Amino acid sequence: MTTDLHEPAAFDATHPVNDRYTPVESAELAALAELFDGGTLSGGAPEVEAYENALRDFFDVGYAVAVNSGSSALPTALVALGIGPGTEVIVPAVAPIPTAMPILTCGATPVIVDVLPGSLALDPDDVSGILTARTKAAITVPLWGYPTDDTDARALLTDAGVPVVEDAAQAHGTITGGRYAGTTGTIGCFSTHDRKLLSTGEGGFVLTDRADLYERIEHYTRLGHLRGNTHGVNYKLAGPLAAIGLLRLARLPEQLATRHANAHQILDQLPEGGRLTELTYPNGDQPNYYNLVLTTDGPGTQVAHRFADAGLPPDSIRYGYRPLYQQPLFAPYARPCPNAEHLATTTIQLPVHPGLHAAALRWIAECVAAIAQRESESP
Ligand SMILES: *Cc1c(COP(=O)(O)O)cnc(C)c1O
Repeated sequence: MTTDLHEPAAFDATHPVNDRYTPVESAELAALAELFDGGTLSGGAPEVEAYENALRDFFDVGYAVAVNSGSSALPTALVALGIGPGTEVIVPAVAPIPTAMPILTCGATPVIVDVLPGSLALDPDDVSGILTARTKAAITVPLWGYPTDDTDARALLTDAGVPVVEDAAQAHGTITGGRYAGTTGTIGCFSTHDRKLLSTGEGGFVLTDRADLYERIEHYTRLGHLRGNTHGVNYKLAGPLAAIGLLRLARLPEQLATRHANAHQILDQLPEGGRLTELTYPNGDQPNYYNLVLTTDGPGTQVAHRFADAGLPPDSIRYGYRPLYQQPLFAPYARPCPNAEHLATTTIQLPVHPGLHAAALRWIAECVAAIAQRESESP
């Protein structure tokens, strides 16, 4: 079934909204024509360097390296930090598979830790209990674009000399502690896959302020510049994708503003003091609204099914989202993480992207209000 969002249809359970946002093409084709005229389509195209400079300026960091996916950005960050066999990498149990897979790619051991209650932040007590001399990095994830206040865990990690890698793949434009997510740790990793706010089809980038790490990242992703003295891979972003990224980065602030307004249109329908609330984040921080995320203090599976029945399936139903160690590949690294299990079953992810027609947004807001009402009536 297709949904034409340009026609205000009767939005009901048989007309689910399109949760996939495709940016409207504006100058992309002209930019691609210019690139074809230049004759270089590879990662050596001048557009790639221009894109990296624009990323560096937007995020206000020392260095940006464009790569061909978020799944290339993460192992690159780990390799630059010396992660390999015999080392351990901390990862929160709420992380999705692509966040943790690169730890295995590097031959390192994932150490799965719990989050604080109702939060995506690493639990400092759990972190302090598992730190060893082999712990060489910790990954944090501002999932669904929500700010992650890891202040306490990060203080412990800093004392132990453990660098933080931010998997900001879903968090372009998220503000945390007055800075953009992806610029608050030692290295920030992003994806620009079609489903992310900044989209180049496939792609990603790595940010850091440290010149030594930049040099390793740059060499590693470009086959060590074929000098034959350091190991490397070819993770370069192709020129046409950089040309698209350059144009779309300029339009990111507009997209962020629309997502914010859409999220608040839905949040305005939530009754005060009800059981359904927005996932909390620190005062002054700002989600990018990759998704609007709601949580409930009622039975999680019940509310998840209510949303699914209404045509708005949350990640736990739609993608089988659950704590990392409940995936067979990560089962050998299971540790008790009750807060992560609770979060996975009690969160509802809603689309608020700029492609939603006004009628679709109104319909989502009405669904949320109706389900919030039923939640408050159930025991
Ligand atoms: C999308 C995503 C990735 C992987 O990025 P790709 O570009 O798809 O390889 C990693 N981590 C998170 C949190 C993601 O959402």
